[in-house]
Amino acid sequence: MDTTEPAPPPAEAQPRGTGLARRTYLPRIVGLGIGALCAGAGLYQADARPWVWCVMLVYCFAWPHIALHISLRSASPYTTERRNLLVDSFAGGVWPVAMAFNVLPSVLLLAALAMNNFATGGARLFRKGLLAHLAGAAVALLLVGPKFVPQTSFLTVLLCVPFLLSYPLVLGVVMYRLSIELSRRKDELVLEKRRADEANLARTRALAELASRDELTGLFNRRHMSDLLAQQRLGCQRSGDGFAVALVDLDHFKHINDNHGHAVGDSVLRAFAEQAGAAMRGTDNVGRWGGEEFIVIYPGSTAHEAAQGADRLRERVAATVVTTPAGRSLTFTVSIGLTEHMPPESVDALVERADRAMYQAKSQGRNRVVTLSKAKARA
Ligand code: GH3
Ligand code: MG
Ligand code: MG
Repeated sequence: MDTTEPAPPPAEAQPRGTGLARRTYLPRIVGLGIGALCAGAGLYQADARPWVWCVMLVYCFAWPHIALHISLRSASPYTTERRNLLVDSFAGGVWPVAMAFNVLPSVLLLAALAMNNFATGGARLFRKGLLAHLAGAAVALLLVGPKFVPQTSFLTVLLCVPFLLSYPLVLGVVMYRLSIELSRRKDELVLEKRRADEANLARTRALAELASRDELTGLFNRRHMSDLLAQQRLGCQRSGDGFAVALVDLDHFKHINDNHGHAVGDSVLRAFAEQAGAAMRGTDNVGRWGGEEFIVIYPGSTAHEAAQGADRLRERVAATVVTTPAGRSLTFTVSIGLTEHMPPESVDALVERADRAMYQAKSQGRNRVVTLSKAKARA
């Protein structure tokens, strides 16, 4: 048997914990309103005194509103409403005594309360309810004295019929609404979780993207380009697809810095990045290798095939004009060393050859592409 206290339903399903009090309100009005007929029939048969009638009428017709009021004004409406249910259970002990244990209304009353308590607080509230019944019965015995006339008259049976029909129905409606609310809440939680997962994924992707970028130019950084090179080399081993690599170095960049300042040098680096982005095919990748050196990967291309793209980049750069803050127009050029992967060589060996080709371009007068294809490199 369940002995644990059930947790209050989620706060959002019942704003500020008032859900239980609101859910209990209607069944209490209907239950006590129609139950007044059963109790009245029982009291009539038991020949109850007028003050007992008064207490019954006040309890049946005023208590539902008082209970709601108390719960809503309480600092913890959920706990207060569970206490109100124990007040109902206490009253449930009083009326059978006041009705001289008239069987049908007494049993109906206790059955309805048992249902309420179990539905709301499980075995624990049910047991507390039984204790409250006993307390109520003890107080009633002291006030009205013991009387035992259990027979139920036909009139009392008739007056109990509305309660018998309506109360389970009301309780059923309330439970149905609650289950709809809970399943809606569950859907909301699933949706919220999915949204949070998506946001996390987007954040993780954004962070990974940020970590793979060079701050100044927005191009991929050296670490990311190294990863791409390693991936290309692996892919090459698996599928035999080759790739070409170009090392691009800005010519006389130190002069630009020296003559125009570091900030203009930065603008030139950004201008190069822009041109490189525009000159690339969708599958090519360009990144900053360090300082004023950049690296381009041409997947699936030989050095010969990539040469056209490299020269297009060189031409675009040479045609680019950067305006300095002093209003002067500045042009710059690049020297490009191009080569292709020669399996099973390492990435370092490949880049080292591209570097050699780039220095050849420098020594041949700069602003040019020097290609070291397999054939040339082996020659
Ligand atoms: P070469 O044509 O032989 O390549 O000559 P160079 O002047 O371009 O080559 P060098 O290696 O002598 O100078 C490169 C300069 O690039 C030196 C360094 O201060 C500058 N540099 C490196 N990173 C940055 C940067 O992020 N911003 C700026 N403005 N300058 C940088
Ligand atoms: Mg350099
Ligand atoms: Mg340079």
